[in-house]
Amino acid sequence: MRLILLGPPGAGKGTQAKVLVEAYGIPQLSTGDILRSAIAVKTPMGLAAKEVMDRGDLVSDAIVNGIVSERLDQADCSKGFILDGFPRTIAQAEALDQMLEEKGQKLDAVVEMKAEPEVLISRIIQRSRENGGARADDNVDVLRNRLAVYSDQTAPLVEFYREQGLLKTVDGMAPVQDVTAAIRRAVHE
Ligand code: AMP
Repeated sequence: MRLILLGPPGAGKGTQAKVLVEAYGIPQLSTGDILRSAIAVKTPMGLAAKEVMDRGDLVSDAIVNGIVSERLDQADCSKGFILDGFPRTIAQAEALDQMLEEKGQKLDAVVEMKAEPEVLISRIIQRSRENGGARADDNVDVLRNRLAVYSDQTAPLVEFYREQGLLKTVDGMAPVQDVTAAIRRAVHE
């Protein structure tokens, strides 16, 4: 199963990806998590990405495409993967298509998790409290920028994948178990 979870920040992509990892026995590939690990251990890539991430802007396509390409080459991705937070631009989606083509692989589905901006803001504030402020980009001003970046740069992927016949849409505002069930139904349709 090769799956993309697409949706704005706070829509629950990470939560669902973790549940699906258990259900399908395939890894979650979160570019945000990989970038945060790089920041934590202060690699040159992490240091370069930190400022951009703290503002809620997008790290360059070249950096994230490189991360994903390296990760997809690892053995645990051979049977499938759940992409969470990638692609975020049309250029990234095109790069992913090329990476998969080179491997003779195809995506099974792209699941769009629909969510209302007001609900996202309150979810992120809650996440920030639960994490004790661990994520520098979980505050209201940065979140508003991340939502604007999503609608400018990432939302066009909905049409991109609809045209490829891969798009499935679920209500990301439903309770966690209901969203999981809807995703599982959607990918097996
Ligand atoms: P996330 O954990 O997916 O919400 O990502 C947190 C931050 O990491 C984003 O706001 C971006 O600054 C950066 N990031 C993660 N994935 C990508 C991506 N595919 N392209 C560009 N920047 C990304």
